[in-house]
Amino acid sequence: MPAVADMFSPLNANQRRFVDAVRAMGPEFQRRGFANDAEGKFPAANYADLKKHKLHAVNVPTRYGGLGGSYMDYGVFSAELARWDGATALTFNMHAATMMWSSVIVDDFDLPAEAKKKHEANRAKVYEKVVNEGAIFAQPFSEPNSAAAAGRAPFGTAAKRVDGGFIVSGTKHFASLAGYADYYAVVCTEEDKDGMHDVKNTVLIAVPAKANGVKLFGGWDVLGMRATDSRSLEFNDVFVPDENMLMPPGIYYQAAVKWPHMFVSLTPSYLGISQAAFDFTVAYLRGEAEGAPPAGGPRHSAAKQMAVAQMRIKLEQSKALWWKIMHEARMNPTKEERLRAYACQYTVMEHANEICQLGLRVCGGRSIFKNFLIERLYRDSRCGSLMLPWTAEICLERVGRESLFEPGEK
Ligand SMILES: Cc1cc2nc3c(=O)[nH]c(=O)nc-3n(C[C@H](O)[C@H](O)[C@H](O)COP(=O)(O)OP(=O)(O)OC[C@H]3O[C@@H](n4cnc5c(N)ncnc54)[C@H](O)[C@@H]3O)c2cc1C
Repeated sequence: MPAVADMFSPLNANQRRFVDAVRAMGPEFQRRGFANDAEGKFPAANYADLKKHKLHAVNVPTRYGGLGGSYMDYGVFSAELARWDGATALTFNMHAATMMWSSVIVDDFDLPAEAKKKHEANRAKVYEKVVNEGAIFAQPFSEPNSAAAAGRAPFGTAAKRVDGGFIVSGTKHFASLAGYADYYAVVCTEEDKDGMHDVKNTVLIAVPAKANGVKLFGGWDVLGMRATDSRSLEFNDVFVPDENMLMPPGIYYQAAVKWPHMFVSLTPSYLGISQAAFDFTVAYLRGEAEGAPPAGGPRHSAAKQMAVAQMRIKLEQSKALWWKIMHEARMNPTKEERLRAYACQYTVMEHANEICQLGLRVCGGRSIFKNFLIERLYRDSRCGSLMLPWTAEICLERVGRESLFEPGEK
């Protein structure tokens, strides 16, 4: 059996450490994935293992006791995690994105001294909860009116300022980690004094999962990613103290415009799924996947070899583009860099499903049974291009329009 190869190279010291740690747990995560998928069960055991190795603090800065992974380090870690279990990586991204938005992204803004001091105090408490208490943050962003998550309208979930904090009210759906997270990092609109909502007044607030007025509802019996437990959430006049603000007021909106790569952090989940589909297909055709027919004629078939080559080429294209755009992730990227990030999101998400389709086709009918990983990867991979704020269609729209029009042109 070929050795498990790294998805990327060269890896820096942090990336090497994170990848090795995930790979040591990976086969067990993959094994658990079958039951989690069948029962729609959240991968809590995987989270317990990640916490044992402190990997839940993978991108919390070292000065707060975290492992200090950069955005790129986190991406490499996340792709390796997804290679072994997509649902763990996708849900973990919500937590990791919250850590990143409140640290490196906020740090790129020139804040007034008072706002900076306040944010510093807030985030120190957040990271303390993560590092010392194992707290996990979900990130419910999507709402039934999807225009908000797509950036076209203010979020319907409202945060009304009161003495010492906010009163949060509204509904979120697709809240991955529902029922497992300790906090929901809720993106909401701070009402102005006239009760009006403006997209510029978006705030990110950590609502404790056990706060009065937080209610989970609905089910999560879905096509793919059945273990993410992405049920819906209702907030009925939930009081949240001021110190739970995860980004200073106004910064979320500015970051969405000026730091667009912040929304790429889900792509490694689907790169890992793509890699897993490729790894599985090779193992299956070599007769090395558990339960697979013994290697024989199929491996020698030119048609199958061509399909495996197509899978590998798509995978390499996804990985190369992702590697490039992750090195370009920063404040105020150029137009070329921003459009390349959309192109990457589109490519990774679409390729993930195409690679899985090819995998099923080349492995053949016997591989569609649920004891084979490719069956689940195929379903899980379908969801990537649906992810807001950068769905496949939104990426296409932006790449097309902005290639033809400069700002201000009609
Ligand atoms: C497994 C999973 C986990 C998730 N976890 C989270 C989470 O933790 N937090 C969170 O906030 N959200 C999460 N989401 C939600 C996700 O980001 C989206 O918000 C959700 O999938 C949008 O669903 P919708 O029906 O409201 O989509 P809509 O916005 O209504 O769009 C439906 C589809 O139509 C497409 N479309 C739009 N215009 C056109 C057009 N002109 N032509 C063709 N197609 C078009 C869109 O691009 C999209 O693919 C998760 C989703 C999934 C599948």
